[in-house]
Amino acid sequence: MNETADVIIIGGGVQGASLAFHLAEKGVKPMVLERRFLAAEATGRSSGLVRMHYDLELDSRLAWVSFQYFRDWRERVGGESGFTRTGFLQFISSRYYEQMKANVAMHQRIGIPSLIVTGDDVRRLAPMMVVDDIEIAAYEPESGYADPSATTQSFMDAARRRDAVLHQDCLVTAVVTQSGKVTGVKTSKGAFNAPVVVNAAGAWAADVGRMVGLELPVNTWEHDTMFIRRPTSLSMMHPTVIDDILSMYFRPETGGLTLVGLEDNNPLGESPEGYIERARRGFTERAIDRICRRIPGLDQGTLHSDHGGYDGITPDERAILGKAGPEGFYLQCGFSGTGFKTAPAIGACMAELIVDGAASTLDITPFDYKRFGEGKLLTGEQSYDSAWH
Ligand SMILES: Cc1cc2nc3c(=O)[nH]c(=O)nc-3n(C[C@H](O)[C@H](O)[C@H](O)COP(=O)(O)OP(=O)(O)OC[C@H]3O[C@@H](n4cnc5c(N)ncnc54)[C@H](O)[C@@H]3O)c2cc1C
Repeated sequence: MNETADVIIIGGGVQGASLAFHLAEKGVKPMVLERRFLAAEATGRSSGLVRMHYDLELDSRLAWVSFQYFRDWRERVGGESGFTRTGFLQFISSRYYEQMKANVAMHQRIGIPSLIVTGDDVRRLAPMMVVDDIEIAAYEPESGYADPSATTQSFMDAARRRDAVLHQDCLVTAVVTQSGKVTGVKTSKGAFNAPVVVNAAGAWAADVGRMVGLELPVNTWEHDTMFIRRPTSLSMMHPTVIDDILSMYFRPETGGLTLVGLEDNNPLGESPEGYIERARRGFTERAIDRICRRIPGLDQGTLHSDHGGYDGITPDERAILGKAGPEGFYLQCGFSGTGFKTAPAIGACMAELIVDGAASTLDITPFDYKRFGEGKLLTGEQSYDSAWH
């Protein structure tokens, strides 16, 4: 096999598929090379939260542009994203109330449907929750969650309808360069040629970076989640919630389930080949204890399933987007546990950068790789500090 494409994308997660879709829309031929199968890693294990509440304006803008894809998916992309509107609540410790008010004002300025609500409002929105520790919360009535595998599949289907190519079970082993320019890759299925190669390899991004001599500051981050079957007494759907007071998040899932993830004890620096078919020992106990503190009726629920997943994480817990290394090499990685909901906008921006020379949907230059060497780490304008403890 010695096929040629305009752009080779290493990694068939939601980020690679979104880029393939946006490149194909621009009349460029992308080729996605995936060592396993579409959405096999972080994407297929993602909790799929779709919300715009961030403390960095650029992240909120990426999420807001992306939200409009999820809302209008069939017209914009085709197929299904599984977007389900549940409403989204952000709970935060009272020491961050002023920051939260400022962030909601920033979200409103961008155009995001978001408002500050009181503890009593939360009780009315979600009567099953105990919220005595909450004076105010941020509320996004339009937000919810989507199905990351369906999202990735429909991005890729739409790209393939426009000439994109996908090779699964295809491990990229080397990036080939000549006179400082990218010319293609070597893989377990032979060589492929392209003048542009994109590293969208998730938790393996540092390994792919080394293929062109780059030492990327992308570590691995392991994250477990579980699903509880709600008892019949709690059949009412609850909103999607990030509960920074109890260091967890949760959302409803079809079939009367509730998904729970924890923000603490997510190990860094493990091999991404670790065992993730089940959550690590001790996770479900901690997660059940916390969710039952917020929704006491769930103590009548039953554990349905649990699993883990690996994403790439950077020192400032923000993505790396842009050019680096040899001419024709691009980075779309380091999503730090939060890169599902922003994938539509990021794919659009990266396609613009590659084809037109600069992103026009949003300015993504602050996400450049050089920021780490220059000490320009990104931090929220009204920061809540680290999301993952
Ligand atoms: C459990 C969990 C829950 C999460 N919840 C949320 C959430 O609620 N909301 C949110 O926005 N984000 C969430 N995230 C983060 C989000 O899922 C990720 O940031 C996003 O899916 C990253 O997409 P990706 O395409 O970069 O990576 P991946 O989906 O990991 O895709 C990268 C692909 O590259 C392939 N690859 C690697 N090396 C090679 C190679 N050499 N050759 C060929 N292929 C290669 C891998 O097999 C993999 O399929 C969560 C993550 C996890 C793990």
